[in-house]
Amino acid sequence: MDKTIDQIYEEALNELAAADIETVTDLSVRYLGRKGIITQFLRNISKLPKEIRPEAGKRANQVKSDLEKKFREAVEQVESKTSGPVDGIDVSLPGRPARPGILHPITQITLEICDIFSRLGFDIAEGPEVETDYYNFEALNIPKNHPARDMQDTFYISDNIVLRTHTSPTQPRVMQKQSPPVRIIAPGKVYRCDSDITHTPMFNQVEGLLVDENVSFGDLKGVLTIFIHQMFDAETSLRFRPSFFPFTEPSAEVDMKCVICRGEGCRVCSHTGWLEILGAGMVHPAVFENVGYDIKKYSGFAFGMGVERIAMLKYKIDDTRKFFENDIRFLRQF
Ligand SMILES: [Zn+2]
Repeated sequence: MDKTIDQIYEEALNELAAADIETVTDLSVRYLGRKGIITQFLRNISKLPKEIRPEAGKRANQVKSDLEKKFREAVEQVESKTSGPVDGIDVSLPGRPARPGILHPITQITLEICDIFSRLGFDIAEGPEVETDYYNFEALNIPKNHPARDMQDTFYISDNIVLRTHTSPTQPRVMQKQSPPVRIIAPGKVYRCDSDITHTPMFNQVEGLLVDENVSFGDLKGVLTIFIHQMFDAETSLRFRPSFFPFTEPSAEVDMKCVICRGEGCRVCSHTGWLEILGAGMVHPAVFENVGYDIKKYSGFAFGMGVERIAMLKYKIDDTRKFFENDIRFLRQF
C-alpha cells in the first residue's frame, strides 16, 4: 500500500470539490464501488504491519462512512439541480391536462339514428363503399342508359365499378342472403361528384328497409313519424309528397315542419315552413324479383336520409362543409 488512508481521503475530498454533474456519480463509484479505492484499502489491511492494523482499520472505516455521506449529499444536490429549471423550461410546473376526445357530430347523429331504429327492432347492416354497377344501379331497377342515372353524379372507377352513390345497394345485398322478414338499417359513406355549400363529394346516409307479409304505406308513415319524433321532438309534424325513385313505387319525399321557425317561414325553409328530410317508398316489385322474393307474398318499404342534413337541422348549422374541415373549435361544441 503506497498511500495512507488520510492521503486517499484528502484526494477524494479534492476531487469531489472539483466534480460536476457528469462526474460525481463516476467518482463515487471510483472510491466506494466494489472495486473502489477505499474498498481495496480495507481489503488490504491484513497486509499491514500487525501493530498498526487496528488503528488503520478504524480510520479507514471512518473515512469510508464519511465519504459515503459526502458523496450521497453531492449526488442528491446534482439530482435536485437537474430536476429544476433547465434552459428556461421549468419542468416542475404542473402539466396541462389532456382534453378527452369526443365523437364527431356526424358519428354522434349516426349512432343516435341507429339507436332509435334498433329500439324499433331494426338490425344494422353494412355494405362496401366501392360497389359494383350491378348493386348500385341494376339491382335497384336502374338499368344502364336509364335516365335516373343522371340523377346521381357518379364517380366511376371502371365501367362496372363505382364509388357507391347511395347506401341503397345494401338492400339487394342483404335480401340476397336473407329471406323475409327483413328489418335493417344501413349507415355509411356515399360519394357523388358534387361540391358546394350544401353538397360535399363524400357524405353519410342511413338506409332503411323492412320486408314482411302485409307491410303497408301506413307502416312506413308510422315508423318514420316515430323516428322524427324521437330525433327532434314529439310536436314535429310530417308531410309526404309524391315523388319518384326507380326502386320504390309509390315514392315520397318526406318533409318535416321547420325546426327553426316552427312553420312560420324562415330563410332555412325558404319561407315554406317545411324542410325536406328524407326519401321513402314501397319497395318496387322489380327489386324483389332481382333477389328472388315472392312479390305476391311479400311487400316492404325503404327509406334513405342524409346524416349531415339531420345534423344541420338538429344543431342549426348552415354549411355542410363545416363537418369536414376539422376545425377543432367547431367540433368541440358537440
Ligand atoms: Zn323555417
